[in-house]
Amino acid sequence: MNTGRMFIGGEWVDSCSGQMRSITDPANQQLINRVPEADQDDVNRAIAAARTAFDKGPWRQTTAQDRGKILFAVGQKIRERAVELAELEVKNCGKPLAEAQFDIQDAANCFEFYGGLATKIHGETMSVPADSLSFVLREPIGVCGQIIPWNYPLVMAAWKLAPALAAGNTCVLKPSELTPLTALELAKIFCEVELPPGVVNVVTGPGPGCGEVLASSPFVDKVAFTGGTATGQKVMAGVAKELKRISLELGGKSPNIVFADADREAAVDGALFAAFANQGEVCSAGSRLLVEESIHREFIAQMLAKIPKIKLGHGLIAGTKMGPLISYAQLEKVESYVKIGVEEGAKLLCGGKRPKGLEAGFFFEPTIFDGVTPKMRIAREEIFGPVLSILTFKDEAEAIAMANDTEYGLAAGVWTKDIHRSLRLVRGLRAGIVWVNAYHPTYNELPWGGYKKSGLGRELGLHGIEEYLETKQVNFHGDPAPINWY
Ligand code: NDP
Repeated sequence: MNTGRMFIGGEWVDSCSGQMRSITDPANQQLINRVPEADQDDVNRAIAAARTAFDKGPWRQTTAQDRGKILFAVGQKIRERAVELAELEVKNCGKPLAEAQFDIQDAANCFEFYGGLATKIHGETMSVPADSLSFVLREPIGVCGQIIPWNYPLVMAAWKLAPALAAGNTCVLKPSELTPLTALELAKIFCEVELPPGVVNVVTGPGPGCGEVLASSPFVDKVAFTGGTATGQKVMAGVAKELKRISLELGGKSPNIVFADADREAAVDGALFAAFANQGEVCSAGSRLLVEESIHREFIAQMLAKIPKIKLGHGLIAGTKMGPLISYAQLEKVESYVKIGVEEGAKLLCGGKRPKGLEAGFFFEPTIFDGVTPKMRIAREEIFGPVLSILTFKDEAEAIAMANDTEYGLAAGVWTKDIHRSLRLVRGLRAGIVWVNAYHPTYNELPWGGYKKSGLGRELGLHGIEEYLETKQVNFHGDPAPINWY
């Protein structure tokens, strides 16, 4: 690892200020590495490098086929280093190894998907008017500022960089200040595949000092952000000054709806996985469980019976099913919501506290609240931790109304054996992603993004590349003649 350096203009550099940041393991607070603490001067340096690479560098002259080959090579190198990258991801952001291993493969798949798509960016042709040829060109937007969070560091870097590069853009990536390590390893891979200097730059620094500059710089053409809704609003305000392109992938309070006729075992598993995968630090977490009243008691008993199987510990220890939260601040935030839930009158069924014996890390027990009502804050606000709120409904209409009673609209789950009902639910739910009899599977081939305050635009799939393309109308008159207007 390039200890103590970040990646700007194809070189490994220190921060202008010389300041450094310690990166620690959230499971035990031990030092893993040190990285430069970038500030606005460093971000401006990275933007200038990306600007030069776009305006004057060879990248725009590279054929789509060559861009595709580079992205495939990146995917391949990620696979070759999968073991090392997964372990680094576990240490830096706390998730269990099996989840990190999945993430690394997903990141490789993402580069390969967009590697294939690079040669399939097509325009349109038409004859308007009849004596001319008109066509539509798709072009890269330019310099993309990409701000990503700490919950899926390498996957988020892949989701941002792969489509942007396939389309021919240049990028400044800002990982979370808490989890920059796999993004720096990815930069190393870009060096190995000989990506031209400045096409990808990775700046390691804090959101307010660095992300803000990316959002507001007049030299950045497009901003892509994943993170909390409140931060997304700030980023959008920065972008508004320059009226640049933006895509936002924000938070959620996603409903997971279980009908009495559902496959019970699958639904119980699905409800737990929806809420507790990645410690609940997932934008699409099924953090509101809506259970049909007639099976409510039984369903809860079945869920609680499985809670002891969610073994907490360091993600690298075999058998660990839940790691620590990302930071002490996040732990305190989750704790404060447990207090709020209790004060609001919800019934704490399990968890609600830090586990014994794991005091060195930011661990929190899987927590379930029953008796939650739609107006409670624990039913409305994104907690971003292992806290599940259970509500009940009487019939389908109430389930849909309750599910949609949120300012968010990222994802939703439905568990039923009735295909007609499931199709009615799919249409009725105001969310960008709906799972039926499943929760959480994501595919690089399909669009990801939210309705309402869960975001703007879509990542992944064919829709994802659209977010990185400009559209140019061209009218070509092959037989010029004066129009005699004057
Ligand atoms: P943020 O939304 O603040 O962080 C996401 C990214 O934005 C990080 O790279 C962060 O940098 C950066 N950032 C922070 N402030 C600014 C700013 N003013 N301008 C530009 N970029 C900025 O998430 P937090 O870490 O603060 O978590 C807060 C809450 O957000 C969580 O509790 C959760 O509810 C939600 N969240 C949602 C995520 C999602 O995937 N939907 C992901 C992460 C959080 P840095 O980390 O270096 O400060």
